[in-house]
Amino acid sequence: MTDEGINNILHLYLVVKVDVETLVDRMPNEIRVALATLGCKLNQAETELLAGQFTRAGLRLVSPDSAADIYILNTCSVTHIADRKSRHLLRLAHRLNPEALVVATGCYAQRAPKELAHIDGVSLVIGGDEKPRLPQVLEEKGHLHRMPATRQRLFARNGFKTRALIKVQDGCSNFCSYCIVPLVRGREKSLPADEIIAHIRTKIEAGYKEVVITGVKVGSYKHDGIDLKGLLERILAETDIKRLRLSSLQPQEIHPGLLKLWRDSRLCPHFHLSLQSGSDRVLKLMNRRYRAGEYQQVVALIRNMVPDVAITTDIIVGFPGESEAEFLESYELSQQMGFARIHVFPYSPRDGTEAAQFPDTLSPQIKRERTKRMLSLACQSTRNFNQKFSGKIMPVLWEKRSPSGVWSGLTPNYIKVYTESNKDLTNKLLPLKLVEIRDDGVWGEIPSSSGFCIHTGP
Ligand code: SF4
Repeated sequence: MTDEGINNILHLYLVVKVDVETLVDRMPNEIRVALATLGCKLNQAETELLAGQFTRAGLRLVSPDSAADIYILNTCSVTHIADRKSRHLLRLAHRLNPEALVVATGCYAQRAPKELAHIDGVSLVIGGDEKPRLPQVLEEKGHLHRMPATRQRLFARNGFKTRALIKVQDGCSNFCSYCIVPLVRGREKSLPADEIIAHIRTKIEAGYKEVVITGVKVGSYKHDGIDLKGLLERILAETDIKRLRLSSLQPQEIHPGLLKLWRDSRLCPHFHLSLQSGSDRVLKLMNRRYRAGEYQQVVALIRNMVPDVAITTDIIVGFPGESEAEFLESYELSQQMGFARIHVFPYSPRDGTEAAQFPDTLSPQIKRERTKRMLSLACQSTRNFNQKFSGKIMPVLWEKRSPSGVWSGLTPNYIKVYTESNKDLTNKLLPLKLVEIRDDGVWGEIPSSSGFCIHTGP
């Protein structure tokens, strides 16, 4: 969606046609739209764009678990679990308000629209191609008509995170054998750098301090001769964003020239590099474009050039034909890499992908047992990484306060941190002394020199 596209939508004033009289009687000028997202950061970035369109068009954003007049679910279809969650949330939306318009969009909607259309209560299924202009599509299909706009609030006050997700690219031409994404999102296409920079500036004006560069395959960014390195250079030179984070890269996309940019401390020392498997045979079957040794070399290069870096990863467990020895290669390599986080995905076949044709001889019990072992390593790995920073003072962007009064936020290198304070820390960048390792993060204290009243936790 271009800025021009967003501006056009400023002139659209929408209301749910199916329920217009009731709504106007009950809550004039205030149509409640609930947006929910499953899946990757790109999906989240696209939901934020939709939220902007609806907000500017005069609708009120409400939480997805509250009563709304329109529910929109941006689905994911990367695993069968994501499919199941998508169906569950659509049914839940219908139960929350049986009169509401329930709209399914996103990757599942693109992959299997009929499957979703048959779910009780689903009013509309909008494929990925039409997702960026969803409000207009609803209007064109006769489900909405114009009404006066109401005064609106910033996204951050409507439950959105303090990090703005900026879409720079879509699609993938890699065709990993297990992955449905190229089939539902199509080939790689990048957005113009000028448009991305303008988008980041609007986020800075709205108060955001951190942006996350997001896409299916960010490392393949290419537009008008500008690659990812060129794009990052321009963002750093042409905006005063305080923190810039990349969502995900592949080992073959990383080179010393790119890493030199991390001399600018605004670039967060955090790389998400999907490993998927530590076995060269399995990596080949997966159609990944690197071998385990090359992955290790890239990690060594990053660690050498980017101090205090966090490297996070994804591992697929139980790929068809994965032997115990090959699983152990993944396990041992993950152990050696000292990952800050490991996302573990038990393999599930996706119709239409190459791997769905591979004979799958592994029993569910073996897959479950390997998943459990890898998850246990993931927990230990995060604790080990966090432990290295115990006692250090690090800048934290504070995100939210739990009902019990505990604030949470992130360090530049993606350590989840917690503290207690009676002040509003939302979206503030403040130092924290990391004190005590907890399950998934670190408890800390804001130094009194920061001027904040501190209450340290138990
Ligand atoms: S690189 Fe592979 S896993 Fe990632 S989106 Fe493309 S095909 Fe899927």
